[in-house]
Amino acid sequence: LEARALASCQQPAITQDQHKIEVAGNIANLAEAEKTVEMGGEAVGLLRTEFVFMHYATEPSEAQQQQYYQQIIKALAGRPLVARCLDVGGDKPLPFLPQPKEENPFLGVRGIRLTLQHPHVLETQLSALMAAAGDKPLRIMFPMVTDLAEWHEIKAIAKRIQAKYSCADLQLGIMIEVPAAALLAERFASEVDFFSIGTNDLSQYTLAMDRGHPKLSARVDPLHPAVLQLIKHTVDGAKQGQAWVGVCGEMAADTAGLALLLGLGVDEVSVSSKAIPRTKLYLRHMSFKDCQQLAERALSLSDADQVRGLAGDYVETIT
Ligand code: PEP
Ligand code: MG
Repeated sequence: LEARALASCQQPAITQDQHKIEVAGNIANLAEAEKTVEMGGEAVGLLRTEFVFMHYATEPSEAQQQQYYQQIIKALAGRPLVARCLDVGGDKPLPFLPQPKEENPFLGVRGIRLTLQHPHVLETQLSALMAAAGDKPLRIMFPMVTDLAEWHEIKAIAKRIQAKYSCADLQLGIMIEVPAAALLAERFASEVDFFSIGTNDLSQYTLAMDRGHPKLSARVDPLHPAVLQLIKHTVDGAKQGQAWVGVCGEMAADTAGLALLLGLGVDEVSVSSKAIPRTKLYLRHMSFKDCQQLAERALSLSDADQVRGLAGDYVETIT
């Protein structure tokens, strides 16, 4: 299977019934960007930029960041880059942004909540990204967005910076990883260009279970029907507002999860570079129509195990 997947990895992912879905790569550095292209990735669907910052003891300058992003954009040779703005805070501290200790870091000042408290960090990063892109396709997204007021604040900063650069192909979007944002998807969708569903955090926050908890992490399953409901709500909202919707959480790299995401109607999935060939091959064996029916049935089930059983049976019929 792996050999067959690799041999066909540069082909698009078109289902048995001619439905196309974009397959992109999740990356943290230049080497992974190169690997994504080699493995048939049609875009980078998630650049976790916090890894850029981790190389520096002090805040990297705009020029240093720009150079870093430029190398990645060059490696993509015209494929879109979806870069996520700095996602730290809580349990992932940054040396140059000291934060008071928090009782509940996952419910604390993390992601966009932290960078909005230090807008110069966000502004420098946005400037570096836009300067690096030139006329190449750049999509910038923001982590942990929870309400529209936050989005309006972010958008005002981004638009101000955009006016200074000739960034010809820019889209702005948000991660959907907080249940509140999923529930308000329709309203966000009329204001953003795209959504990227972060199923790791969306599951953690929907199920109220720490995704790294030694006793609970196995139960933090995006196939839980409650998480599926929120994904469906997000996709429906996105369609109303004409935003495109991708998924960059681990769910997309799991074959049962992939079948459900296809059926729920997402436009793009982003997985680690090594999972790209396999993901494309599985999609080519799937039927969009069958997966739509599968997703509909899954939504009516009561727990993640039942959904795994149902989706697992479908995956067996196609392999
Ligand atoms: C997610 O939450 O699903 C996600 C993709 O972001 P991260 O895993 O970096 O929190
Ligand atoms: Mg996340």
